[in-house]
Amino acid sequence: MKAPFFDTVVIGLGAVGSAVLYQLSKKKGVEILGIDQYEPPHQLGSSHGETRITRLAVGEGEDYVKLAKRSHEIWEEIEAAYGQKIRTKTGGILLDSGRNPWSKHGVEGFWERTLRFAKNQNVAYRIFGQEELQQSYPAFIIPPTGKIYWEQEAGYLFPELAIQAQLYLAKKNGASVWTSSKVQSILQKESYFQLELDGKVVHAKQVVLSAGGWVKDFLPKETQPKLKICRQVLYWLAIEEGFDGWERYPVWMWGFGPNPEDFIYGFPSLDGKTVKMASESFLEVTHPDHLNRIVSEEEKEIFWREKVRGKINGLKKEVVKSSVCFYTVTEDARFLIEPMDGNPNFLWISACSGHGFKHSAALGEEIVKRLGY
Ligand SMILES: Cc1cc2nc3c(=O)[nH]c(=O)nc-3n(C[C@H](O)[C@H](O)[C@H](O)COP(=O)(O)OP(=O)(O)OC[C@H]3O[C@@H](n4cnc5c(N)ncnc54)[C@H](O)[C@@H]3O)c2cc1C
Repeated sequence: MKAPFFDTVVIGLGAVGSAVLYQLSKKKGVEILGIDQYEPPHQLGSSHGETRITRLAVGEGEDYVKLAKRSHEIWEEIEAAYGQKIRTKTGGILLDSGRNPWSKHGVEGFWERTLRFAKNQNVAYRIFGQEELQQSYPAFIIPPTGKIYWEQEAGYLFPELAIQAQLYLAKKNGASVWTSSKVQSILQKESYFQLELDGKVVHAKQVVLSAGGWVKDFLPKETQPKLKICRQVLYWLAIEEGFDGWERYPVWMWGFGPNPEDFIYGFPSLDGKTVKMASESFLEVTHPDHLNRIVSEEEKEIFWREKVRGKINGLKKEVVKSSVCFYTVTEDARFLIEPMDGNPNFLWISACSGHGFKHSAALGEEIVKRLGY
């Protein structure tokens, strides 16, 4: 039987791949296929866990501000087409304990950079005083040296819904989607690519490899060390009786020490009973397929002791729920969109480093442009 032929095949339908597929599906007369080894949105990659922070003045890089702004426009377009809300604007707070220079996502002075980029890029922000923070958000116990940046357009996204909506709209526009189909190999033939799946072969003019942490499986040996897989844990902590208002909190991030791990972030309560919070880990683990998905009692205890106690009021030492996810991290936390072996018709992407979701909608558009559409 002749192998089906597509103009463009997108491998991996998480945050990035679903955005690429949706953007491709808006182009007329193009045969496109999206493939995923699981049933996205699923719980085994980097795009699950209820919420993702979005903010505009991103300290990771001033050039990313336009991606975040454009993504907000695209989420709006998707919400209108899909009929469900993906982005919630809550405002966002960036706290810095101000005691040590704090580095995050590969850059020094994350707080100062955020402020500078907000000024340069016309992002609406305010600097809070300590008293204002205490009155408005008494959960935060920050030291007198603390610095408080507040951004108006920040908020959270529903990642699973964003993926679901983009895949739905892509299919509606004519895209083919194959799930529970793992791509085993990608061979370059003279004028096309041959993809081998379990029991199937597909041919394509162009390939987008947006396989998240699994992208390493397809990279040459010398490129693989550019990407580190780092296990992350999300915690939902019970709200203390009598502590009101967690539902009205902004999204927040707090660098409290000099190391990248001296960091916590969280969300307003979505259910009135729990608050989702997390830190970051940059310890390398081997492969997404071998990730320890169990959160031990000891880990919960350490999280409470090192990341919550003495820093956050209004939460109990009771983990109601937890979830394991992973970052795929580059050294400087920049995103990679690279032609495989220099071939512009085969792009591989790594756009995580713990901050990619908010940019994913616009990255989809950007990748489609790079393919020459
Ligand atoms: C705990 C955590 C918190 C985060 N918080 C934020 C945040 O607050 N704000 C923010 O902006 N970003 C955040 N991020 C980063 C953001 O979530 C990621 O950048 C984004 O989800 C990465 O998406 P992806 O499409 O690259 O990867 P994934 O979502 O993992 O998608 C990759 C897909 O490829 C598929 N795949 C892999 N190999 C194959 C194969 N061989 N064949 C077929 N399919 C394959 C997988 O099944 C998967 O569906 C966070 C990440 C984590 C883990």
